[in-house]
Amino acid sequence: MSRRVSQGPYVRRLSSEERRDGYVMVLKDWLGFFPPVGQEFSLERDGRTEPARIDAEPCTCRGPEKPHEHYSLRVPNLGDATQVTVSKLAGGSYALQVDR
Ligand SMILES: [Zn+2]
Repeated sequence: MSRRVSQGPYVRRLSSEERRDGYVMVLKDWLGFFPPVGQEFSLERDGRTEPARIDAEPCTCRGPEKPHEHYSLRVPNLGDATQVTVSKLAGGSYALQVDR
């Protein structure tokens, strides 16, 4: 199987939990598309640039014998968004588009 890192964009249909709690889950296969976990980067949204980062959280949703991590991008005020698109820009920053 190819492990080539996608150049994106990262498109994600949001769950109600992501909408409510203000985050976008980043699937493990897509980690390479983003800066390293915990490293701050610039995220453009609606013409504004804000600091963002990928967070890792330990999780046991597959049972206590299968601990793993979930990765997320915090995005406050998602409102009634149904889908987000994260694109990589020249210069190492990223852009977020929210679809309703
Ligand atoms: Zn889990």
